[in-house]
Amino acid sequence: MQSRLETLDHIGIAVRNLEDAKKMFSDTLGLVLIREQELPERGLKIAFLSAGSTTVELLEGIEPDSSVAKFVEQRGPGIHHLCFEVDGIDRVMRELTDSGVRFVDATPRLGSEGKPIAFIHPKSTLGVLIELIEK
Ligand code: ZN
Repeated sequence: MQSRLETLDHIGIAVRNLEDAKKMFSDTLGLVLIREQELPERGLKIAFLSAGSTTVELLEGIEPDSSVAKFVEQRGPGIHHLCFEVDGIDRVMRELTDSGVRFVDATPRLGSEGKPIAFIHPKSTLGVLIELIEK
């Protein structure tokens, strides 16, 4: 069988306020800020911090109807998703779909790094939202 999910690329954490969260994760916890970005089409502001072999992605919903804002509203801030690298996102999506896994995205779309991404529906993965990113 060819590989499916590979390395953990990043852990997504939903926050209420990106500035406060950045301070906590960089000044207090000591992770190094790599980049930040506003994604108005997704109603999001995000920041990536280096955590050695992986990365932490902080996400603030800047529109009340964005999925991250709704997540924080319903559950409070906390771990939002795990993102794994895959080699051949179309193939992996096809194989997982054939295995009964449901996706949020029917086809891959471009993520903030310009690489194809897709989200698996958390109902398929024990309540954990999983993002796939082409490596
Ligand atoms: Zn992510």
